[in-house]
Amino acid sequence: MNNNDDQNHTLPKDHPRYLSLRYRHKIIEGMKNLIVAEAGLIAHGRGECFDYILGEKTNLAAKKAIKAAVALLLLAKHPIISVNGNVAALCPNELVELSNKLNVPLELNLFYRKEGRIEAIKNMLESAGAKNLLGIDETSMVQIEELSSNRRNVDPKGIKIADVVFVPLEDGDRSEALKKTGKKVIAVDLNPISRTSIWADITIVDNIVRVLPEMITILDDLKNLKEDQLLEILNNFNNKKNIQNVLDLIKDYIDAQKEEAFKILP
Ligand code: ATP
Repeated sequence: MNNNDDQNHTLPKDHPRYLSLRYRHKIIEGMKNLIVAEAGLIAHGRGECFDYILGEKTNLAAKKAIKAAVALLLLAKHPIISVNGNVAALCPNELVELSNKLNVPLELNLFYRKEGRIEAIKNMLESAGAKNLLGIDETSMVQIEELSSNRRNVDPKGIKIADVVFVPLEDGDRSEALKKTGKKVIAVDLNPISRTSIWADITIVDNIVRVLPEMITILDDLKNLKEDQLLEILNNFNNKKNIQNVLDLIKDYIDAQKEEAFKILP
């Protein structure tokens, strides 16, 4: 059997699962470089599963949520982008581009604090051009009382004082805790019924690798809008309805696949 490097090199671009396998490879490389935790591999697999039954493309509901999310980030007084190992491994350049264009800091927020991990993620993001990185100095961290895990430690200049927190790939406990401290939460989660998705104010049900480029494009469209225009976008967005629409999409996709999936057979 080939090792992972061989698999990547021999994978032809026209392979039907090229993109999915390329991102899988990035996650595996990320784990070898300490950026991704072992559990991050499992989380990625769960995401892949939902992506499959969403047709692996950005749906209309996700587009609406992305627009609302960008509007909220532009309206926020102290927005912050929370970063975990999977996101850093999958799309460091887009993450940094969004942070720099919005002028919003990135805060490292890790559940598994293995020796050398913070350094590895910091290096990765700084080589991608990150200018404003928080959550690096563990000695200056403060705590969110609502949370018992080690992710209760947050940066006093970041999540602690934030009014809006963008949390791609978050776990449910933390999203709930952030909500309970009165912050607005924007989540990216391929599982539309995870606790994170349900607790968030804006839930983007799509793959982070597609969400970040779309957010950057939408930001260019919205950045010159006036406050009341941004507020109008937000007021027209209904998160519960949007998640329900995604669930309908999954149902429709599975119904269609009852026929479509078999068409590849000779
Ligand atoms: P919750 O606690 O919110 O119910 P969980 O704890 O079961 O969820 P985790 O395993 O902590 O979830 O986080 C993984 C989540 O991230 C999963 O819901 C998965 O669908 C999602 N996910 C994984 N990879 C991606 C990705 N590339 N893009 C978007 N979402 C992803």
